[in-house]
Amino acid sequence: MTVIEKITEKIATSQNITILTGAGVSTASGIPDFRSTNGLWAEDESREYYISRSYFFANPEDFWHKYKQIFRVKLLKDYEPNLVHRFLQALEREGKNITIITQNVDGLHERAGNQAIIEYHGNLNTATCPSCGATYSLTHILKQSIPTCNQVGCGDILKPDIVLFGDPITQHERAEQAIRTSDYVMVMGTSLLVSPFNLLPSIAFQSNIPMALLNREATPYDDIFDCIIHDDLLKIVENLKNELK
Ligand SMILES: [Zn+2]
Repeated sequence: MTVIEKITEKIATSQNITILTGAGVSTASGIPDFRSTNGLWAEDESREYYISRSYFFANPEDFWHKYKQIFRVKLLKDYEPNLVHRFLQALEREGKNITIITQNVDGLHERAGNQAIIEYHGNLNTATCPSCGATYSLTHILKQSIPTCNQVGCGDILKPDIVLFGDPITQHERAEQAIRTSDYVMVMGTSLLVSPFNLLPSIAFQSNIPMALLNREATPYDDIFDCIIHDDLLKIVENLKNELK
């Protein structure tokens, strides 16, 4: 049995599947990997300083200038879900209970139509008022260079709904719970370098849940996976699709 055959058999015989996704899923849609050597963080390490909770509260105006530039927020509407997003949506459409736990902030899993998505690092498409809690869409975020709350008597500068450096991770418990109730776990397009997200596969391992890793590069956690494919993610998904037919 090939690794592809083993994984497709697991997909076919499992009802509750949790999929952990990372930048490798978004790069095929033209979105840069914010952490790889060709990505945006590596380009300028000070971005970690600017895209932080402390910088937002110290200098929200300049924060918004840098934030919009770094995440290419204006282009966000132009990105489209790719083969990988559509593959995961198709599994759901075919009746599987699919939960996606994603590190990606582009909202493309949602655009592809998946229902159960845990956005571990938040989402670029919305922003929330720190004073009154009102949430605003991308259209509103793009309307003003420094987006503010338009509730009567408020007018505060909005805070983006991505997890900034220094922000608490609020979705970890929920993510662990989803993994514990899965029959199968697939990790796609992430090198598992970012903590605490990279602690999630060990939850499946400790619970004896079979697990596949589909990523171009090796990860520090490869030894806990049953099945591993190191290859281009689009190519892997193409092979899975053909095998599942
Ligand atoms: Zn407000």
